[in-house]
Amino acid sequence: MRKCQAAISRAPQDSASLWGIIHIVAIREVVQYPAEVLTRPCRKIGAGKLAEMRELIADMMETMQQAGGVGLAAPQVGVSLRVIVAYRIEREEVLSSVTAPAPPRLRAYLNPRITRGEGEELDEEGCLSFGKLVGLIPRYTKIWLRYQDDELKEHSEVLEGLDARIVQHEVDHLNGILISDRTTVPLYEREEEKEESQVAATGSDADTA
Ligand SMILES: [Zn+2]
Repeated sequence: MRKCQAAISRAPQDSASLWGIIHIVAIREVVQYPAEVLTRPCRKIGAGKLAEMRELIADMMETMQQAGGVGLAAPQVGVSLRVIVAYRIEREEVLSSVTAPAPPRLRAYLNPRITRGEGEELDEEGCLSFGKLVGLIPRYTKIWLRYQDDELKEHSEVLEGLDARIVQHEVDHLNGILISDRTTVPLYEREEEKEESQVAATGSDADTA
């Protein structure tokens, strides 16, 4: 079930070895509910496994994009470690006239912690581990996030709207919490999904994570 494609993941000067230049990005299988790995709290990532982490992150990003999701947590590819990848959907506020480099749209967060939340909004939310099922999930509209990058450097970020929702969904995965635990109504199949049939495979699902 693993499809592979070569991708340049690192500048050649980073390593003399071929594996340092070309990482074979693997599309991994997305684990489906009710697999046990989805309900288990994940372990924190330490300094020992960073090279492995970068490969995992590259695979998770590829897998997420292939599946048409906007976020993915490591347990969804069967790895019980605290790492998530997520799209940044909404633009950051422009705080000054100085042009800052745009943050990458696809982000990886290691050991993410939500330290504060504000506001609440109920919205429909899906999950790549639940097929076409969705629920109505209450989430903070604004969160304060602390996380580490792939060198374990500490960062903090404030996220709002859909960005905040995606990260809350993914951090839940790291704690073994699923949409079936959070939904305010029984999970149901999204109406348009029933009609779309095959088109869904290529379409982008705004809130499937
Ligand atoms: Zn999910």
